[in-house]
Amino acid sequence: MAAADTLDTLIQAVGALAAQGLSPATGGNFSLREDADHFLITASGRDKRALTTDDFIRAAVHAPLSTTAPTPSAEAALHQRLYRLDPTIGCVLHTHSVAATVLSRLAPTEALLFEGYEMQKAIRGHTTHEQGVALPIFENTQDIPALADRLAERWESAVLPHGFLVRGHGLYAWGASVAEARRHVEGWEFLMQCRLTERLLEGRA
Ligand SMILES: [Zn+2]
Repeated sequence: MAAADTLDTLIQAVGALAAQGLSPATGGNFSLREDADHFLITASGRDKRALTTDDFIRAAVHAPLSTTAPTPSAEAALHQRLYRLDPTIGCVLHTHSVAATVLSRLAPTEALLFEGYEMQKAIRGHTTHEQGVALPIFENTQDIPALADRLAERWESAVLPHGFLVRGHGLYAWGASVAEARRHVEGWEFLMQCRLTERLLEGRA
């Protein structure tokens, strides 16, 4: 159901993520559930380091997205699908980091597997570094509704670990609250940064 967070809480969190270089060149999009039937999402092309409440658009969870200006982010359909798939999701964050972009391009598989990192415990449900966690990867496309359909298909066959990658594109992560969604973004991004650093030191990338 609705997160207790305000839009100001989301704006602060997005500003912090953007300051970490996770949302350059107006990339990424960010949303907050308002109630069972509505969410607020960033409009297209806004600087994520300096958002105001005027940079958000109200969208319906269970109805077609608006196509009149100002339009929501092009990827609003993915946020919408996540809110439909799980009514406990209160916040969805989508970042465009170097590590997510590079590692998802290099991975030949449908997931990045992380094992042995203490940071895996940042992801809800993971209590030990000994329990591996796989971050799913979807192929990139400009057909966002089709990507949302593939997400829903995979959601039915496996529980997603509060995040997934789009190849050559970026990370989606979510949580019951803004704080939890941000923890998931920062946890996944830290894990990917570790993996990228290891590959560089090993001379494999
Ligand atoms: Zn994107």
